[in-house]
Amino acid sequence: MPNKDYYDILGVSKSASQDDIKSAYRKLAKLYHPDLHPNDPECAKKFKEVNEAYEVLGDSGKRSNYDQFGSASGNPNDFFGGSNGAGGFGGRFNTGSFSGFEDIFDIFSSFGGRERKSEIQVTGEDIEVNINLSFKEAVFGCEKTIKVTKLDKCDSCRGTGAKDGKEYETCPDCHGSGQARYTQNTIFGQMVNVGPCKTCNATGKIVKTKCPHCNGKGNIKTQQEIKIKIPAGIDNDQTMTMRGKGNASVRNGPNGDLLINVSVEQHPLLVRDGYNLLLDLPIPFTTACLGGKVKIPTTEGFYDLTIPSLTQPNTVFKLKNKGIKYLQKDVYGDLIVTVRIEMPKDISKYEKELVEKLDDNISLSSYKKFKTYQDKLSKL
Ligand SMILES: [Zn+2]
Ligand SMILES: [Zn+2]
Repeated sequence: MPNKDYYDILGVSKSASQDDIKSAYRKLAKLYHPDLHPNDPECAKKFKEVNEAYEVLGDSGKRSNYDQFGSASGNPNDFFGGSNGAGGFGGRFNTGSFSGFEDIFDIFSSFGGRERKSEIQVTGEDIEVNINLSFKEAVFGCEKTIKVTKLDKCDSCRGTGAKDGKEYETCPDCHGSGQARYTQNTIFGQMVNVGPCKTCNATGKIVKTKCPHCNGKGNIKTQQEIKIKIPAGIDNDQTMTMRGKGNASVRNGPNGDLLINVSVEQHPLLVRDGYNLLLDLPIPFTTACLGGKVKIPTTEGFYDLTIPSLTQPNTVFKLKNKGIKYLQKDVYGDLIVTVRIEMPKDISKYEKELVEKLDDNISLSSYKKFKTYQDKLSKL
């Protein structure tokens, strides 16, 4: 059985028609409306109950669920089309075609007593710019100046679009909220959508005399040079966000952001892997055999890497802290060098003789992997 008897609350019989339910609801909602009984919790409670009952019984689908199962199964705010719910918009509705509903919505507009007359802020649009950095600029950070065309709030009218910031009145249709409810017929019944107020173009204001500086727009297009500090360690495809440096809001809300998409030129030899740098280092097989020094690039110039004698292919040398500085941290990645041993592409007859001599002299046991392979092979 249902916890509450909605029929009882609305004072109608179980066989009441939808019209009867509607009219009973309207009478009671007006009777208990919080505006008429401010600070009366008993009335507020009644008002809430009446609304709850009508949300179910006023909807034939929910009513039939309620009749059968004792619950309407669903969010009580469903009626309003979702989480916007009954949050108050101090609005009046000029939809015309559903005149019968207008005063119902009037009442709902202050459901729960949370009438909101203040403006809804709308953030200005973001501006996106692309900048190209050299490898060095990205590694060490730099300062760049970029040119941006953006909307700035008009000082003369303080963003209102009205002359001297005074020559406007509150929009009569949305009462300054900038949002209005529009009723729509759908296969599920009537849906109420909240959308920008068409009368005032969502600004909440009707300008009486336009500001001559911005022609009533409230903001002015300007060309600006903006200095950007690029932090050391920024990588390709990263985006920096400068809060509030985007376009001014059309509705006196906060500015949008300036988004800076960063492209970094590749280093000819070093490859970035997070904050590490990778280097594929080809060395002659003789250097691998005899050892020696090989010049490598680092972010701070060249460095002579010592190759020990008898260095094996693909040996990795890790140069600690020779990578990239972490963003906003005094920590560095590593430079990771992988040795690739290269054979000559062609050798002379004399060179071949030398290698033959070498081959005759190195015993099989010196080649550990090769020997293991041979041993296993012989047992097959
Ligand atoms: Zn409006
Ligand atoms: Zn202006």
